[in-house]
Amino acid sequence: MQILRKTNLKALAKAHALGQEGVIALIERKGLEGRGGAAFPTGKKWRTCHDTQADERFVVCNADEGEPGTFKDKFIILNNPKTMIEGILIAAYAIGAKRCFIYLRGEYEFLRPKLQRQVKSMLKRAKTDVTIEIVRGAGAYICGESTALLQSLQGNRGTAMSKPPNPTRNGLWGKPTMINNVETLTCAAQAVLFDNWKPEVRLFSLSGNIQNPGVYEFPIGVKMSKVIKAANPKRKLKAVSFGCFGGIMPVDENMAITPETLMMEKCHHGAYSIIFADETNNVVDLSLSIAKFYTYESCGKCTPCREGTVRMLNLLRKIHSGEGSREDLPILCELANHIQETALCGLGQTCGNHVLTSILHFPQDYEAYFSKK
Ligand code: SF4
Repeated sequence: MQILRKTNLKALAKAHALGQEGVIALIERKGLEGRGGAAFPTGKKWRTCHDTQADERFVVCNADEGEPGTFKDKFIILNNPKTMIEGILIAAYAIGAKRCFIYLRGEYEFLRPKLQRQVKSMLKRAKTDVTIEIVRGAGAYICGESTALLQSLQGNRGTAMSKPPNPTRNGLWGKPTMINNVETLTCAAQAVLFDNWKPEVRLFSLSGNIQNPGVYEFPIGVKMSKVIKAANPKRKLKAVSFGCFGGIMPVDENMAITPETLMMEKCHHGAYSIIFADETNNVVDLSLSIAKFYTYESCGKCTPCREGTVRMLNLLRKIHSGEGSREDLPILCELANHIQETALCGLGQTCGNHVLTSILHFPQDYEAYFSKK
């Protein structure tokens, strides 16, 4: 797997030889995009942070992997942590930061002791005065969102803040802060060192009703049939959910998985987490489960998301209990659209995707519950 290639501090040495401008330009040329879900160009982020006037800058490795069905960052921390740490050191060098943090998902606390040892060893071997501190996350999904993460790192309650300003210009303690995901930073080290590093290769987290759940590497554009073959489903597959925010769509074996093809189905690739549902599943059940997650994880700061997620959940519960009717569907869609248009952060802006796409693609599953009346 490309993601398992080790860089052994050679990437950091090459970055030092290239200089700050050189390494940022190289990351831009290599076409590295953020792997946390937003796919923002990494080089552009590094450049903005570097060019912002300040007496201090910070790097944060976002290891708060909380999206349901996503476990690729845990895979990297377990299997190639040193390359990730080298990526942090390269990022720190590129933007001129001396203090770095790894914001580790609360539930990944068990990974901390080994990671701590790896950090210590890498800093010693690199003979650097840069520090890397591991901070345990607050155990909330919202803390994976950049502004909420920074609030949590500063000891505050993890709630999202409106943007701008973006953390790259105004982040930790008001200073430029570069937040990159675990996979992004690991790829950054590999992109710097290896001429044949391929930006289109992505990690996919596969789970659900399959016999081979796990982390796989596929290029963007891979046929759905190839992914299904690796997943080895127990029964005929019916639907795929892209994490919880990417939406739910029917299985189409001939489809090439790209951001554009998914967009045509009103879905989003996110962090390429695919949860499979088979013919024995009703998609309303899946949607209900996702709605419970969002209601629990809404930070409560803004009204549309705080109240709207509960309303969507209650309507789905009503349908699920057999008490719903067709008239509930337009209300559900209106709620989902309204929350998405008015919510403050990415959580609220995507929390209705599962409702909208399940109603669009699987009206028969809702009908099945209406006919139980
Ligand atoms: S959209 Fe939801 S999670 Fe985001 S700030 Fe508003 S209440 Fe919090």
